[in-house]
Amino acid sequence: MHTDTLIIGGGLAGLSLASRLTDLGQSFLLAEARDRLGGRISAVRHEGATYDMGPAWFWPGQQRIAKLISDLGLRRFAQYSRGDLMFENTQGQTQRGQGFSSMQGSYRLEGGLIRLIECLSESVPASHLRLSCAITALTKQGDTVTAQLHGGRTITAGRAVLALPPRLAAQITYAPALPNTSMEAMHQTATWMAGHAKAVAIYDRPFWREVGLSGNAMSRLGPLAEIHDASPAQGGPYALFGFLGVPPQARNDEHALRQHILSQLTRLFGSQAATPLSLSIKDWAIDPFTANAQDQQPLYAHPDYGLPATLCGLWDGKLIFGGTEVAQQFGGYLEGALEAAENALRLLTKPER
Ligand SMILES: Cc1cc2nc3c(=O)[nH]c(=O)nc-3n(C[C@H](O)[C@H](O)[C@H](O)COP(=O)(O)OP(=O)(O)OC[C@H]3O[C@@H](n4cnc5c(N)ncnc54)[C@H](O)[C@@H]3O)c2cc1C
Repeated sequence: MHTDTLIIGGGLAGLSLASRLTDLGQSFLLAEARDRLGGRISAVRHEGATYDMGPAWFWPGQQRIAKLISDLGLRRFAQYSRGDLMFENTQGQTQRGQGFSSMQGSYRLEGGLIRLIECLSESVPASHLRLSCAITALTKQGDTVTAQLHGGRTITAGRAVLALPPRLAAQITYAPALPNTSMEAMHQTATWMAGHAKAVAIYDRPFWREVGLSGNAMSRLGPLAEIHDASPAQGGPYALFGFLGVPPQARNDEHALRQHILSQLTRLFGSQAATPLSLSIKDWAIDPFTANAQDQQPLYAHPDYGLPATLCGLWDGKLIFGGTEVAQQFGGYLEGALEAAENALRLLTKPER
């Protein structure tokens, strides 16, 4: 099978690039390792409502995502932030803080961010998408890049866009080998949020709102370090979500973890928190299509991202990096995924000299 452009990775970056190439009538294939599209964007559903298990927010000033949402006819809403915040100290003692929410001013998407993926995938012909299709090796011979798929099949292309975290791109075998400095840069680029995990507890009533709490909580004890309201834009079922504050090595016993999470939610929000309709946990650190061994130490500060010089122009420009971690301005974020896809598109459509 031959195509002009092989996009490797069907997260927001790869899929938005695929959508733009579709509009331009260009020849391409998108190979995605998982059996679903979206990458770090994923969701659980309950009674027809959707809850984000990966990213949830975008912010004012992020113009690409604002435009994409408007172009797709989707709607944003403000993160619920009315009411007081809860604090928990290292002893598990809780305290109510007045009228402050740490994510006030951020936006969420009606129907969850997975709507972006659903709408974008509808804009790309299914014949251009290959799911459960992990690329294990890339070989350049003359003007052709040959991609080896898990299982032995191949795709040949004029060029390849690596729309995935550089650390995962470093797991692909390259022939001819890439310079050591390029491989080192790929390993050194930490994947944003890859070491983290998220828990979502779904309830039939927003009992925290009913007593004037925003659902936002900060804890020094854990296991959740930071909690927010994750309810749909209108109606229920309602939800609280939290980021796990304990490192991946301390998250192995899921049964114990669930008990600790429910105890903590009860300390913070009262006895009704003890019996959710469901409690879902997504540990990104053990998902091999997001995290690798280097990500087992989660990042707590946002790194400076961008495309290192040593990753530019590889294989005579036939190897293009295009995931969020190589975006200069908004690297790591959803907006960065769109920025990186835009930069990749510019390289792909640049007139040949
Ligand atoms: C818990 C969590 C919370 C977050 N919160 C926010 C937030 O609130 N706001 C925000 O802006 N950002 C947030 N982020 C970051 C955001 O999710 C990312 O910026 C964005 O989704 C990255 O998109 P991407 O397409 O560049 O990469 P990815 O989504 O990682 O997509 C890469 C794709 O490549 C595929 N792949 C990997 N290896 C191969 C291979 N060998 N062959 C083929 N395919 C392969 C993967 O399966 C994946 O689908 C969060 C992330 C997480 C995990």
